Amino acid sequence: MVIGAGVLGASVAARLAGSGVRVTLLEQDQPGRATSRWSFAWLNSNGKSPRPYHDLNHAGIRAWADLAPDLDGAAWYRPVGNIELATSPAARAEMTARVRRLTGWNYDARLVDAAEAAALEPSLRPSEPGTMVAWFPGEGYLLTEPLIARLVAQARNHGAEIRTGEQGRVVALDPGRPARVRTADGALLAADEVVCCAGRWVPELTALAGVADTIPLVPWDSPGATAPGLVVQVGPVSPAGPARLVHTPGICLRPHPGGLLHLEAPDAAVDLHTPDPDLRRWAAELLRRAQQAVRGLDQARVVEYQVCVRPMPVDGQSIVGPLPGAPGLYVAVTHSGVTLAARLSQLIAAELTAGTQPVELAPYRPSRFLSAATPDQPG
Ligand SMILES: Cc1cc2nc3c(=O)[nH]c(=O)nc-3n(C[C@H](O)[C@H](O)[C@H](O)COP(=O)(O)OP(=O)(O)OC[C@H]3O[C@@H](n4cnc5c(N)ncnc54)[C@H](O)[C@@H]3O)c2cc1C
Repeated sequence: MVIGAGVLGASVAARLAGSGVRVTLLEQDQPGRATSRWSFAWLNSNGKSPRPYHDLNHAGIRAWADLAPDLDGAAWYRPVGNIELATSPAARAEMTARVRRLTGWNYDARLVDAAEAAALEPSLRPSEPGTMVAWFPGEGYLLTEPLIARLVAQARNHGAEIRTGEQGRVVALDPGRPARVRTADGALLAADEVVCCAGRWVPELTALAGVADTIPLVPWDSPGATAPGLVVQVGPVSPAGPARLVHTPGICLRPHPGGLLHLEAPDAAVDLHTPDPDLRRWAAELLRRAQQAVRGLDQARVVEYQVCVRPMPVDGQSIVGPLPGAPGLYVAVTHSGVTLAARLSQLIAAELTAGTQPVELAPYRPSRFLSAATPDQPG
């Protein structure tokens, strides 16, 4: 059984069902409507460290490339590359060091001059003198809505049962062999293994199972919390607009279906309590910055804005594995979940079907948060 049909749960359900496991996928809403829907969805291992976490994210990018031909990738896979601009001396020094480190880690990254940058992304407006530009050709982005629809359909085609709304909302969870799950419609379901992929709600579910405080996430619901982020969609974008991911010091942008651009800014300090007029001001500011950075936005206005929440483990690394003290319960919660879902789902399915303990997952076990760690026993 899999709880949560975001990009991670849908990927895990599709992998397990494809391996011949009988899967029930439980989703309290419709699939893909929570964090995964609003994600910037940038496939990258650009600033990820230490090395094992970099390698895991890099493997995540490759896993999507491998999956795309078999899952109608034309509908959701956009390996368009990423251009990044650095202007301040500190940012240029950081970029130089990062590009050197990444190439040393077998990651495609290089500095380019202004002419090559303009050839790669003709929509870029001329930047101030001294701007440094880096090009990351192996990066891209995913369109999560069509992707998740296809993953869920693939799981269903392999025999998975998909329960949504009240039939999919988990309200009670008893660990054990079998584990028992109650849904809001009153149904009682049993499973050999419950894989909890409920994003930022994973701690609520483990608390239902009587195991509190083992999945420490960065706070997301209190005023001033840093896990929420603002995403803004603007359009229409003319044909002169960008085709790639672009990161400047003030704005991150990428194309979005429907002739839109998807925008984020690192300094947009918002949370789930930010008043709407402030959100609208930020949204207008992001549009202004995008217009300064690229061409094609002369007619654009803000089409949509949303505060959405990063499921962020406190140490910045993924949390994946059997939950100590809760037999039959396995958790998977991570930031960078879009980049990671294809690879993590392979590893999780291998662990649960073959009983192996993938070395790649060793640094991410939930047991690292316990003072007296319990051995990790897969289900
Ligand atoms: C602003 C922003 C930008 C981001 N940018 C990137 C990026 O560029 N690249 C990247 O890789 N990642 C990025 N991320 C992170 C990435 O989007 C997330 O890590 C990923 O979407 C998490 O997916 P998920 O499936 O774990 O969670 P979700 O998509 O939140 O799915 C969890 C699901 O569980 C369901 N659920 C919860 N409780 C229950 C219950 N009791 N019963 C049944 N179902 C339940 C929810 O309804 C939901 O559908 C970004 C996130 C944000 C917020």
